[in-house]
Amino acid sequence: MRCEQCQRPIQGPPVRTATRVLCQDCGDAFTGFAAGVLAGGTVGDGIATSGWFRALRRRRDDGRRDGDQPDRGPGDRGDHGGR
Ligand SMILES: [Zn+2]
Repeated sequence: MRCEQCQRPIQGPPVRTATRVLCQDCGDAFTGFAAGVLAGGTVGDGIATSGWFRALRRRRDDGRRDGDQPDRGPGDRGDHGGR
């Protein structure tokens, strides 16, 4: 099965839209694009949101590698050195 967007073989579960079958990457882009079009109404907004969506997903993947918690020192209550 090939992605109808980028024509490459789909690795993993395909992303089905109303009219097409896409790979994960194009599926994410399509989801972001559709959300952008619905929210903003212009193609430019859709493309911008598509990029934002990809960046968000990538950041979430990176965070999972670090254990979901923001990096904080032990016992850090906002003071320096604990005076
Ligand atoms: Zn694709």
